[in-house]
Amino acid sequence: MITIKNRFIPFGTYKAINLFGLVFTKFPLSHSELNHEKIHSRQLVELLVIGFYLWYVVEWLIRIIQFKDLKRAYFNICFEREAYANEANLNYLKHRKWYSSFRYLKNK
Ligand SMILES: [Zn+2]
Repeated sequence: MITIKNRFIPFGTYKAINLFGLVFTKFPLSHSELNHEKIHSRQLVELLVIGFYLWYVVEWLIRIIQFKDLKRAYFNICFEREAYANEANLNYLKHRKWYSSFRYLKNK
């Protein structure tokens, strides 16, 4: 995975963003943060990139309507829930089943 450290991307308070498998960050990432981005890279591949971004945005919009809270909506996107739940497990991707993200669709 290629990580690009820079001063501008991602915007705001986010630590990193995975764009088409390239990780942009303003700060050095911890092992678990890197693992979080690797999980997103796997999700990207599974949904052929465009499917991932389409699903991500549509689910985020639905969660905004559902929760009326941007941060809560973000943390409830199935891709984020899977990545946050498993980022500390550095062996997660070795045992992960395909399309595991969709197991995280249930509401918190
Ligand atoms: Zn994430």
